[in-house]
Amino acid sequence: MDGAMTQQQKGAADAPFYLAQGDECALFQAASDNNLPVLLKGPTGCGKTRFVSHMAAQLGRPLYTVACHDDLSAADLIGRYLLKGGETVWVDGPLTRAVREGAICYLDEVVEARKDVTVVLHPLTDDRRILPIDRTGEELEAAPGFMLVASYNPGYQNILKTLKPSTRQRFVAMEFDFPTPELEIKVVAQESGLSADRVAPLVRLAGKLRGLKGQDLEEGVSTRLIVYAATLIATGMSVDRAIEAAMIEPLTDDADVKRGLLDLVTAVFG
Ligand code: ADP
Repeated sequence: MDGAMTQQQKGAADAPFYLAQGDECALFQAASDNNLPVLLKGPTGCGKTRFVSHMAAQLGRPLYTVACHDDLSAADLIGRYLLKGGETVWVDGPLTRAVREGAICYLDEVVEARKDVTVVLHPLTDDRRILPIDRTGEELEAAPGFMLVASYNPGYQNILKTLKPSTRQRFVAMEFDFPTPELEIKVVAQESGLSADRVAPLVRLAGKLRGLKGQDLEEGVSTRLIVYAATLIATGMSVDRAIEAAMIEPLTDDADVKRGLLDLVTAVFG
């Protein structure tokens, strides 16, 4: 091939940094090879989105990411007729584009979306791999390479917003959690440019804050927030101020809880 890189090789060379926690890359690759949809479960900010971008690049596939919200409907994913220069034209949504192109479609926080979205996903997640488009009368067969990936955070404890077993049982599921301290130090150092020995106490503090989940805090501090704190410190902000802004304030609005968290900071940093 006279030295030219394939699309897959190019993608792999530019893949965003992702430090694996276990065998998730091999499992994702196997799911992709076998046309199986994948569900990523885990708390917010623990690396799910980064993992999908990394794998899409590794596999040399285009990626369509949709951040789901409570107003997101099937039409937002599939497409709609729009008025363009006096004419009505059909415009594909991100899911339809991915189905046509053989791309990866990632539905982040899929449980947030409206109920009609799950109806659309069912025929795509079994061996039919079809997307019926009622509006145009088309029934699209997914191109080779199409892969559906969805994520959700089971920790929100909202009974109304959980995936029904009939939907959940159509996916190969992987559980994500925050990395072990050793790995998390590497991730945060790499992402922020702060040295590992200065990142280590931030990760230790995060461990203590995560211990409060379910008592004083709804959610523990995410890897994303540690990266924010470390980035602020790396660019010259004082450690105290960076921790308060990136690792305490985002967790709670309650003044008493905040004071308790700041005591933990003192315990770790002295
Ligand atoms: P999620 O999709 O789970 O909410 P993200 O994938 O957006 O979380 O992760 C948040 C940030 O944390 C990323 O932007 C990245 O900086 C960092 N991160 C977390 N885990 C990893 C990892 N294993 N490798 C590389 N970066 C990571």
